[in-house]
Amino acid sequence: MRALGLVVLVVILLLGCTPGSRGVTASGSNSDPTSPPHVLAAAEPATQAVPTATGSPIATSSPTATAVAPVTTSVPQPSPVAATTTIPLPAAATAPDPTPTPDPTPTTTAIATPTEAAIPAAHQALDEHGELPPSLYTGNVLAVRTGAGVVAPVRGVTADRYLVVTPCYNLTLINGGLAITGPLDVLIDPGHGGDEPGAVGPNGLKESTVNLLVAESLRTELLLRGYSVELTRYSDHRVTIKTRSELANALAPRVFLSIHHNGGFPGPFPVAGTEVFVQLNNPESARLGGIVFEEIQAAFASVEADWVGAANNFGVAWRQNAQGTDLYGVLRRTPNMVSILTEAMFISNKAEADLLAQPYILETEAQALAEALDRWFDTDDPGSGFVDGAVFKGDLGSGGGTGGCIDPEF
Ligand SMILES: [Zn+2]
Repeated sequence: MRALGLVVLVVILLLGCTPGSRGVTASGSNSDPTSPPHVLAAAEPATQAVPTATGSPIATSSPTATAVAPVTTSVPQPSPVAATTTIPLPAAATAPDPTPTPDPTPTTTAIATPTEAAIPAAHQALDEHGELPPSLYTGNVLAVRTGAGVVAPVRGVTADRYLVVTPCYNLTLINGGLAITGPLDVLIDPGHGGDEPGAVGPNGLKESTVNLLVAESLRTELLLRGYSVELTRYSDHRVTIKTRSELANALAPRVFLSIHHNGGFPGPFPVAGTEVFVQLNNPESARLGGIVFEEIQAAFASVEADWVGAANNFGVAWRQNAQGTDLYGVLRRTPNMVSILTEAMFISNKAEADLLAQPYILETEAQALAEALDRWFDTDDPGSGFVDGAVFKGDLGSGGGTGGCIDPEF
């Protein structure tokens, strides 16, 4: 019995797998609208009455029909009618497009001003404070990611180019790259880059490198979890805080997450001395900060190291400048979204710099951040680790400014 069954099975398989029978089985699958009926539609319009499809499938499928040309030639045989219907195929191939005569630039004109001159000059000029005026741009393409790993917010569109803000906060026209449209869940901001490495570990490891690696890993994880994600930079180049913020405001993500790793030499600490900075007077920023803090601390709890930390800064806090607004530009300049800035671990501490040189630690941090974002999006968890905010009176330095900034190749 078993042997007979096997023989029958083999015969069935053989029949089912022969190239010739593939076309025939397709006729049986006419009921399935997703199967390619084009080959048979022409051959047996009378028999199967190919549901409503007699005309349209030929047209829509004609592009693929050219790819399977050998099959189509064998089909006409069945009926004489088929011969006549098959002839139109080539013609149908030329005129099948549902939107006929795809005139010059339907999509571009919809979002574009027709010429470069149409972009108001005032729209392109920095004011006396070195700031661009609020963007008047309302097009669909919010930013462009270039092959060189630059992500540039769009401020206007010409017939063939985008007016963008460069990493050094200049304006330029570019005509290539991946168009980024909204909406966006998370914009990840790897701090520093290029000739601004941020903190540097005793082992030579640059904070800018670690920040980017964690950001890339987090992006991968978030994409797997179904979020839409972008980075403020995909390569090792400098980006001003003004451009990072401009990009955030252009993309309007649900969350703007700036990733840093700490510098300085505070004292020994029993656990990783992570600091998370949140926006003033923004409960959702605080809540996200509190959840991120919990996840990072939990992720590193089992890691053995000679940690360092500063008791007065450890935890989640806002930091105010002398003007009474957020100290950090990426938080201050993005008031219409939930923004936080993380300083996980101290790269300036040799033990922690050596840890950060190991991929599994970066992956651990990225997983913790992804978990935290999941919790922020999906729960009402309040987070924890909140400490008093502080007014910062010192000098933050010129990092992230436009001075001496040289734009990378696009
Ligand atoms: Zn930093």
